[in-house]
Parts: sequence; structure tokens; C-alpha cells
Amino acid sequence: MINFQCFNFPFLFSIFTHMKRWTTTNNTVIFRVFEKRSNVYLIVCDSLNILVDTSRKAYYKEITENLKEILDPGFSLDYLILTHTHFDHCENARRLKEEYGCEIIVHKAEADYLQRGASPLPKATMWISRLVLRLQRIFLPEIGQYDPVEPDILIEQDQTPSFCKSLRILHTPGHSVGSICVIVDQEIALVGDTLFRVVKRFIYPPFADQPVNLMQSWNKLLNTPCKLFLPGHGHMIEQEKLTEQYERHTGDR
Ligand SMILES: [Zn+2]
Ligand SMILES: [Zn+2]
Repeated sequence: MINFQCFNFPFLFSIFTHMKRWTTTNNTVIFRVFEKRSNVYLIVCDSLNILVDTSRKAYYKEITENLKEILDPGFSLDYLILTHTHFDHCENARRLKEEYGCEIIVHKAEADYLQRGASPLPKATMWISRLVLRLQRIFLPEIGQYDPVEPDILIEQDQTPSFCKSLRILHTPGHSVGSICVIVDQEIALVGDTLFRVVKRFIYPPFADQPVNLMQSWNKLLNTPCKLFLPGHGHMIEQEKLTEQYERHTGDR
């Protein structure tokens, strides 16, 4: 007789999806649910659906349609981990919580921003991002604000969450004070804006409040066994690329 409990249904549904996915040796599956403006990832771990970041409001329908394709039309979300609280990562947090019942996880240092629905824009690290910030302040003075939402679980220190032993959450300040990374099975790291890969050659974020802490966080990531890093914007980054760029930015040759 077939034991249906052996089947991981979310995984079976996902076979037909066009979305990029990665599977760890422990069979935890990570999907890139959305990638246009900023990336949204889904971790399917021990039959729990854990979303990482939410992208912008304009893409809500597309994101939830993609989740229906991966999971099933009546899906629910167990947790939503916010790598940080910039608007392009959490504009859909409140609506997702209301409609899909997920508990929101964020670093304690940015809980206030989420509760207020406003995070300060980060400092620019290069001339092009300085220009972007100036134009935003003139033409989009409201940017950075979003629907406020109450977080459920606050991260205060590096930890393995009780609901999924495959994950480890690391505090990686630099891009913002409460940036966190999610390490999956010690193999793949979801890094938010701690790394960027919009342009192939460069991975340094165009915005960062604390550049010195950012390099310490890169070093922290390099001290994990992870071989692959999935950023909040752009494509995956290999460990070799991070090592090379870390040495370039710290002069540690
Ligand atoms: Zn950001
Ligand atoms: Zn971002």
C-alpha cells in the first residue's frame, strides 16, 4: 500500500514550474518565486512554507500566482523572513500576513521600522546610487513608506529557528543595521542586500549604511561552508566570486 505521507506534495507540484530552484543535499528546496524588481524566495523545509522577502506592492498578484503554481491554489505560508525592512523587500509583508497567515521574522534592530511602515533610505556607496537617491528625494518623497505590520519573531542573535533545523539565521549588518542572512543546510545563503548581482562583475551593494560592518558580514558569510549566495537583487553568486571581491574591497591580497 502506498504511504501518501512519504510524498512531499509541494515538491511534486514544483516539477512543472519554470521558476529557478535549488535543492540541498538534505532535500530542502529553495525557489526563486520572483525576480523582476527584487527577488522573493520560497524555502520548502519539513513541509513548512517559508517566504524570504516580498518585493514591491505592484507585483503582489504575480508573486502570489507564482506561489500557487509552486504549491497549490489553496496554499498557506508559515513564516515570512525579512532580510531587512527596506520598502523593496517588505511592501507586501502586511498583505501576505493578512491573507496567508505567516508569522513575520525580522531583526530586532528594524522592528520599529516595520511597525511604523517606514524605513530610512540607506546611504549611497557610489556616484550612480547617489544620483538615484537625489532624484528619489525630489520626485518620490514618499518612497520608503509602506503598510505597517507587527512582527512576530524578533532576531537578536545568530540562531537556528526552532521550527526548522535546516536553517540558520545570521545577523549581517552593513547594508542596514538589522540585515540578516538565512543559511540553508550550511550550503546556500539567502543574503538580501548584503550582496548584489545586478551587474555580473560586481557584487558590492550600491547602498550601505555601515560599509565597515558590511565587510565584516562578508567575512562572516565566507566563514560559513556555503558555496552559493542568493542575493535580494540579481543572480546567484559563487563562493569564489565573493572571496575575490572581499579581497578586492579589503585589500587583503
Ligand atoms: Zn535594501
Ligand atoms: Zn533591495
